[in-house]
Amino acid sequence: MQIYQGKSVYEGIAIGKIRVCKKGEQQARRIPVTDINGELERFHQAQEATIGQIEDLYGKAREEMGEGNAAIFEIYEAILTDDNYVNDITTLIKKNGYNAEYAVTVIKEKYLQMFAAMDDEYLKARALDIRDISERLLDALQGGKKSRIEDEESIIVLSEELTPSEALQLNLEKVVGFITVEGSLYSHTAIFAKTRGIPALINVDIGMDTSLDGKLAIVDGVGGHFYVEPKQDVLQECMQKLRTVKEEKQILLSQQELNSIYDKLKICICANIGNIKDVEALKDLNIKGIGLLRSEFLFFERKDFPTEEEQFECYKTVLEAMQGKHVVIRTLDIGADKQCAYFHMESEENPALGMRGIRVLLENRELFLTQIKALLRASAYGNLGILYPMITSMEEMTEIKEVLEQAKTELTREKNLFGTPTHGIMIETPAAALISDLLAKEVDFFSIGTNDLTQYTLAMDRQSSKLEAHYNKYHPAILRIIRLITENAHKAGIPVSICGELSADISLTEEFIKMGVDELSVAFGMIPILQKKLVELSK
Ligand code: PEP
Ligand code: MG
Repeated sequence: MQIYQGKSVYEGIAIGKIRVCKKGEQQARRIPVTDINGELERFHQAQEATIGQIEDLYGKAREEMGEGNAAIFEIYEAILTDDNYVNDITTLIKKNGYNAEYAVTVIKEKYLQMFAAMDDEYLKARALDIRDISERLLDALQGGKKSRIEDEESIIVLSEELTPSEALQLNLEKVVGFITVEGSLYSHTAIFAKTRGIPALINVDIGMDTSLDGKLAIVDGVGGHFYVEPKQDVLQECMQKLRTVKEEKQILLSQQELNSIYDKLKICICANIGNIKDVEALKDLNIKGIGLLRSEFLFFERKDFPTEEEQFECYKTVLEAMQGKHVVIRTLDIGADKQCAYFHMESEENPALGMRGIRVLLENRELFLTQIKALLRASAYGNLGILYPMITSMEEMTEIKEVLEQAKTELTREKNLFGTPTHGIMIETPAAALISDLLAKEVDFFSIGTNDLTQYTLAMDRQSSKLEAHYNKYHPAILRIIRLITENAHKAGIPVSICGELSADISLTEEFIKMGVDELSVAFGMIPILQKKLVELSK
């Protein structure tokens, strides 16, 4: 048994098999081949196995995410069976005596360069498909290691650092825990783990050794330990802890009982979700609604922009599932640590201070307009609030209203039905906080994003693990600023929600209630803990 220490992101226990996710691409070495026919046979077998895998993925994606989102796998299959692509690889094996892995890698590079040189953005984005396909072929050539481990029921993902988009691409039904070598407690990956209620440790001093693949391990998010090949007594102890954690999380209160607590304390709990699949998990939790649905997932899960129709269907599904409860959907908040390859965003010196949130949307009006039209249409099917991220000025509000007007005009002309959602803004920059008295007159609600508000107020990168010792989330400046925002909102008669990670910090719940905060929107994995706190405070 080996024991490693890490920082806990989500306190829970996970038992499963390790899956090592190495960053970057697989580099194949050139190995001289004498049996050319045997090598060709190896390649064709890998090609067939990969096609089989892609077909499975297509079926699964179509079921879970609809035809539109699944279409990418059809493209994959077309590439894998494309004569030019296949001939290019087999020619290198036949003529140059390359091993199949090396031939696949050389042709991958050739196609990547070819796609990168294209003007058409759509074709440029196909480079990603070639990369993905080549890696799958390499996996298959190396014995299909990935897929064997994916067959396991419970997987603990071990990676250097996972980006939110990589995390979303994992088969989350099977992922029970995350271990990352790098990472910061406030990164989006950490938030992602919390949102999904997945036990996770970051800054674990473990090598990315592929021999760990498939080994039994335990993530102990309570004690901050990662056990590889645990001894029987540790395994038994952790299984017992796992049962206790599960029991503690059982919600014992009815919706009615909770509502009376909400009334008494004048605060309510909503959920933050980052994926349409999470809606299912909310069914058993007696929450007021969804306080933050990060719409990024719709963009991350795919290889190209979602259409208005696809977005509409997705938002409508969430609204209908929530049966009239308030659902706040945030418009795309991309930039900084949330990157999406097909956006081709230019790299910046200081991405957190650069193109992100509303700035990206206002620069890309068509993209923004498409999302707004989809949201307006969906709002006819439920109780929707549209939330705009990273606001810093009144001018942005004017521009947002112009886009809204344009969207309504177009929908009317297209004879598309739409509803009347409410509109809110994220207060997550000191600028927005300081003019919150003015902004409050322009919108129906505020949502305080303490993750960014803290990083911008303290001038400390939320991603930096080096700054963690100085990153004081209880800094008096943060609490003062939340108080100021709440007062300004209430003067204008609009409600305030906190949707950053601080909302789930039970050492602050009483303070937030005293400040008059109306709603705490928390990662759904944290809901039972916060509900318990409210019960305690209501006594
Ligand atoms: C925040 O900044 O607090 C927030 C909720 O937004 P995100 O974490 O998605 O940037
Ligand atoms: Mg934010």
